[in-house]
Amino acid sequence: MRGTVLLLQHGLGPLDYLAPEGARAGDVVEAPLGPRRVPGVLWDDGAFQTKPVDEAKLREVRVLDMPPVPEPIRKLVTWVADYYLAAPSAVLRMVLPQSAFLAPPKGPGQFVLGDLPETKSKARAGMLERLDAVRGIGPAPLAVWAAAAEARVESLRALVKAGVLLPAEATEEDVAVRRPALPPGPELSEAQGLAAGELRAAVAAHQAQPFLLDGVTGAGKTEVYLEAVAEAISGGGQALVLLPEIALTEAWLQRFRKRFGFAPAMWHSGLTPAARRAAFRAITSGEAAVVVGARSALFLAMPGLRLIVVDEAHDQAFKQEESVPYHGRDVAVMRGQFEGVPVVLATATPALETMEQVARGTYRELRLPDRHGGALLPDIHLIDLTREPPPRGRWIAPPLAKAVEERLARKEQSLLFLNRRGYAPLTLCRACGERIQCPNCTAWLVEHRLARRLQCHHCGHSMPTPKACPSCGAEDSLAPCGPGVERLAEEVALLWPEAKTVVATSDTIRTSADMATLVADVADGEIDILIGTQMLAKGHDFPNLTLVGVVDADLGLEGGDLRASERAFQQIGQVAGRAGRGAKPGEVFLQTHQPRARVMQALLHNARDEFYAAEREVRLAAGMPPFGRLAAIVVSALDGAAAADAAKRLGQAAPHAEGIEVWGPAPAPFAMLRGRHRHRLLVHARRTSPLQAYVRDWLGRVQLPSSVRVAVDVDPQSF
Ligand code: ADP
Ligand code: ZN
Repeated sequence: MRGTVLLLQHGLGPLDYLAPEGARAGDVVEAPLGPRRVPGVLWDDGAFQTKPVDEAKLREVRVLDMPPVPEPIRKLVTWVADYYLAAPSAVLRMVLPQSAFLAPPKGPGQFVLGDLPETKSKARAGMLERLDAVRGIGPAPLAVWAAAAEARVESLRALVKAGVLLPAEATEEDVAVRRPALPPGPELSEAQGLAAGELRAAVAAHQAQPFLLDGVTGAGKTEVYLEAVAEAISGGGQALVLLPEIALTEAWLQRFRKRFGFAPAMWHSGLTPAARRAAFRAITSGEAAVVVGARSALFLAMPGLRLIVVDEAHDQAFKQEESVPYHGRDVAVMRGQFEGVPVVLATATPALETMEQVARGTYRELRLPDRHGGALLPDIHLIDLTREPPPRGRWIAPPLAKAVEERLARKEQSLLFLNRRGYAPLTLCRACGERIQCPNCTAWLVEHRLARRLQCHHCGHSMPTPKACPSCGAEDSLAPCGPGVERLAEEVALLWPEAKTVVATSDTIRTSADMATLVADVADGEIDILIGTQMLAKGHDFPNLTLVGVVDADLGLEGGDLRASERAFQQIGQVAGRAGRGAKPGEVFLQTHQPRARVMQALLHNARDEFYAAEREVRLAAGMPPFGRLAAIVVSALDGAAAADAAKRLGQAAPHAEGIEVWGPAPAPFAMLRGRHRHRLLVHARRTSPLQAYVRDWLGRVQLPSSVRVAVDVDPQSF
């Protein structure tokens, strides 16, 4: 029988093979390829075009003893490859990562946690504590324990030897149907009850309906979607929850455990290979009731899937830029369609695209109007930096400094937000004017004073901070320009030497354990002033935090891209939502040079609907997403002339088509990145024009030298 096989081999398209009698689409196979054997999946006929080959010449595949790739996942792979113009094999690798092919962990399958022993080791005590916190998941395989408690499987084996983790006598059947008894959730407000009721009904009815769960931070969205999760798993089903920056979601996990009494399986890039293997088994076998993951979790088979939640659905972290550039939010919605399950996009500041889907009636909106329990939204103040600037060489303007002082006096906490790692974003020579640039990228090197280095935030290039100007050789002439969080911390130490502060960035908080420590310190009142980036903007709930200062509210508006205001609104809105989550009211100060800008005014007056309406008009007038469609084509090469020439030739070869225009080539944002020179062509299509078919046809017409790389990004996030 002839069949199409998708091989897990970079650079190979779908190929035809002979499949043995009884083989079916979805079977994992091993296919001969030249002298080698390569794993792949037998695909559905007609999903992809293959080169016609004489049946007599076809070689035969062997079916591997592995769970087949289910139909909804095959449809998803086919759709992603087609929509994002990506190599199907690259998409398939997300479905069957390395861990899929490794043997399951050996030994007795299931373990329960016994009594905890005394220990002097801090690390061991920490691990035991984490295991204790997830005690309810037992009996479970070691891998599930490892994933839940963020421990290494090897360490857990030692605990098995020591008799702390005990083999459980569980039958196969037990495991399949056993679910922890779910404790009841909190009593819901009326609005929450209505929203939760709709979601529960959609889960119960297997409705392939996308929902926008919309409400300000603190409105109780999480509580609502956890009800839908409860519905999904109570009948033995599975739920998938996607979070941005999964490695740092300690606060979320604590809350989940408190609500359900067990820990979810985690899926993200930070897992150890053993934990990954275990998590893969637990998730794809249906054993894991709830999976919490980064966007990559979207591609894992879940036989009992009943619900998908995308929390903080507006977050840029759901967009993958490398390898297969896809948007996790949109892929989640498509997976919901293929699986026949509801998808919940929860956010206080939806993307304009999502709002438009609501307006068109494709997504159903569930709105929670107020903060839970009558907590007030924070009071927002704008500080006009042109009129009330900070003292020279400083970044905290007087009104913000005064507000921090009030918090210190009242023993309340403040958060100073600056989305810039390091000490200073630019190092300038006062003698010759040289700005120290990355040799590989169109970017300045950022000084990291603690590390005593200059670093590129794009390619990772770094060098020791020089004493003399690398260009003119002048000594002591290099000056840091502008603030990063390290510099802000220096100012805070100068202003309030007695205050207890912490700097939280991806340089200082690397693991969920670091984040857990930070969260505990803040909760215990060990911190007066938090200084941090993006990382602090999300998900945390600190009742004693009553002040948020956004040190540079204009930062997101630079660059003049059409999505800049939306992004700034989302980011500032989110960080502002950290203030006043408890009984005490919160205040937010935005430092800006553009107090009249629409986004600042909207934040000031809490005028979200007006802001969206105005942004919508701008996009509509320009025919930009969601009122038109875009694909970015980036042509790059190590050699600048080769890149420019290829981009020009590609531009000239663009065919004419109704409703489609090609703009450029122009230097790409980051004209140089990781040593490659980059030019960008932007394809603009009307909403109904066949963008993908156009680009596929066009790129197929042009032969470019192998030194030139062409990367396609459908629905680019910047335009
Ligand atoms: P959001 O996800 O919209 O930001 P949360 O679900 O985190 O809001 O709710 C904000 C706070 O209010 C949390 O501390 C949460 O535990 C609490 N909360 C929300 N709904 C309820 C409820 N029905 N009963 C008790 N506490 C609630
Ligand atoms: Zn660089």
